[in-house]
Amino acid sequence: MFRSPRLAALLSCTTLSLMVLATEGMWLPTLLGGIESDMQTMGMRISADDIYAVNHTSIKDAIVLFGGGCTAEVVSKNGLILTNHHCGFGAIQDHSSVEHDYLKDGFWAADYAGELRNNGLTATFIIRMEDVTERVLAGLPNGLTEVQRREAFAKVADGITKEAVEGSHYTAVVRPFNYGNSYYLIVTETFRDVRLVGAPPGSIGNFGGDTDNWMWPRHTGDFSVFRIYAGVDNKPSDFALTNVPFTPRHSLPVSMDGVKEGDFDMVFGFPGSTQRYLTSYAVEYVTTVGDPLKIQMRRASLAIIDQAMLSSDRKRIQYADKQKGISNAYKKWIGELRGLTELHTLDRKREQEADYRSKAKGTVYEGALDELKLAYTEYVPLAKARDLFTEFVYVGPELLRFTDAFKGLITGQEDLRTTGKLQAEVDHLKGAARGFYKDYDKTVDERIFKALLPIYRSNVDPANAPPALQDIDIRFKGNMDAYVADVYARSVFTDSTALFKLLNAPSPKALKKLAKDPAFTLSQSFYKSFLEGVRPKLATSSDRVEAGMRTYMKGLMTLYPGKTFWPDANSTLRLTYGKVEGSTPRDGMSYEPFTYLDGIMEKYRAGDAEFDVPKRLLDLHAAKDFGDYGEAGRMPVCFTSSLHTTGGNSGSPVINGRGELIGINFDRSWESTMSDIQFDPAKCRNIAVDIRYVLFVIDKVCGAKHLVDEMVLTHQATGEPAFIKLPIHR
Ligand code: ASP
Repeated sequence: MFRSPRLAALLSCTTLSLMVLATEGMWLPTLLGGIESDMQTMGMRISADDIYAVNHTSIKDAIVLFGGGCTAEVVSKNGLILTNHHCGFGAIQDHSSVEHDYLKDGFWAADYAGELRNNGLTATFIIRMEDVTERVLAGLPNGLTEVQRREAFAKVADGITKEAVEGSHYTAVVRPFNYGNSYYLIVTETFRDVRLVGAPPGSIGNFGGDTDNWMWPRHTGDFSVFRIYAGVDNKPSDFALTNVPFTPRHSLPVSMDGVKEGDFDMVFGFPGSTQRYLTSYAVEYVTTVGDPLKIQMRRASLAIIDQAMLSSDRKRIQYADKQKGISNAYKKWIGELRGLTELHTLDRKREQEADYRSKAKGTVYEGALDELKLAYTEYVPLAKARDLFTEFVYVGPELLRFTDAFKGLITGQEDLRTTGKLQAEVDHLKGAARGFYKDYDKTVDERIFKALLPIYRSNVDPANAPPALQDIDIRFKGNMDAYVADVYARSVFTDSTALFKLLNAPSPKALKKLAKDPAFTLSQSFYKSFLEGVRPKLATSSDRVEAGMRTYMKGLMTLYPGKTFWPDANSTLRLTYGKVEGSTPRDGMSYEPFTYLDGIMEKYRAGDAEFDVPKRLLDLHAAKDFGDYGEAGRMPVCFTSSLHTTGGNSGSPVINGRGELIGINFDRSWESTMSDIQFDPAKCRNIAVDIRYVLFVIDKVCGAKHLVDEMVLTHQATGEPAFIKLPIHR
């Protein structure tokens, strides 16, 4: 399996084992020395030290964790960053209204003063990562319960992180890898003033919509542009008018040379989560219960939301972000289920486990799988209860979680009154309510409730069901629609005027009314039955699974010394490498690795919600006016590579062998989505938007050339990489 004996030898020396399997793997940047020669053999012209270093600048200094769950990259010395349109979507939507429809028309700030602030949006850099496994494990003696282990870990981690950030403005965290068999210290620097600079029209940034999401061939200009601001000392600062554009340690040069099939490339970013080492018991849950249930529930709510969004611009804007969140995972799970079935993942896991069992006989790892099997019998019904609750209350109708926000006011009013904090709480809730109602439509929400309730009821174990739902049989003769209609008609929470009237005069009588509100009592019944009835058992059971997985994982690493195992993604910085290539995802089907603007014209349908395009794009295409960005009379748009990516890699830079930006990663093909559980090198391909298309859209389509002028564009495919390392002084 190894690419070279040298590589195998090097890897076996690393503390964290890494599995080398074609292009599978999300590599820790601190361990790149072990795979450097392999990457160089594949075409990399720079060194591992150019990618990650602590004492001098390196590519890592241009990589940003964008908000909580995406990646972005620095592309100018003035803190300009690129990410996906779908990562900036929430911010773009926040600034949008029917009068300023940035989602539809796009947005471009003419200068710094026009850049828009985004409350709560952050940009985080990695300062350094360090293997602290020995220190942590020394503080975790054998025989601890999971709860005791967590407490002991928190204490050790606290000491390590405090020491790491002393005297600096950095933050630090210790993260477990490989189910707690290894630990890393990660020191970060977080900027809190990140402004929106530009976004293409939705018909470019989200071209193809849900129909094309997770699909190849793809033609989405999935990018948006932000800028990091800092205080005048170049350090993180809360938003302030005196803040200035951040001067980064490194910014990525942008290659104008394009990519060829077979070129080496890599993605550097923050992949969210993979589950490469799940047992057959877990895979069985995912494929027979978890994925099918979530797909069924999301299909039901999407049918309602999609129809509503087509009915008016107002609803389209109100539901755009929510719809995206729901449909993205929905479609992914459909692909994942199909991929896992086609790869016979469950059978494969069972075979691997049979082999493990025979190897583990007589060792301390012997019982690990039996223990996990037992743990899963207990865990599966609880996981189902959790998935039902999450899909209903957190992803379904919004009324339940909105009313729950009032719990503190309603149940704690006496205390709030005596401590003089009542008004502050009311003001806070009014602010939250304003934000909520901006994007809320009672009719749509009620219809979602009606669509999901029968699915929820037919799946929930009666012991876990909220008692309030008994009203359906008691008062409504089993008529669920009539029950829901009654709740929505009587609740003040579905009527902003009525709610604000109560909040403007929050007398004990007014709050009593809220306490008896049918939506509030129903929501409390949902939360109580989950939080008190399910969650404690789920926590104990998850601990059992976690402990079992820790032993099993250690067993795998010990019993298969010839194999190496890369740690699952956990939102920490990783690098994946491979090459630009297409695929043959199924019999008789072959994917080319490149798409062009001509393909957009093939898909173009005037007036269509997903496949319309701006007139300017049509004109530029007709005139073949691609500026400096085209290639042999055509305008490249997207490309695929065999890089192992997942959610969180959205917005990550795709970098060539010279350390230059060639694209922005944004998706995988549908036939790849099982790669979080099983990666198939023949099928799995990530999708990136070609950086030349990004520049073409910014400059030629949207007239924001001043932003392209901020970047360093390179034309040097044949020269030596000009990688400048500057010392970092701390
Ligand atoms: N499109 C994906 C996402 O939304 C990226 C991926 O999973 O490959 O997270």
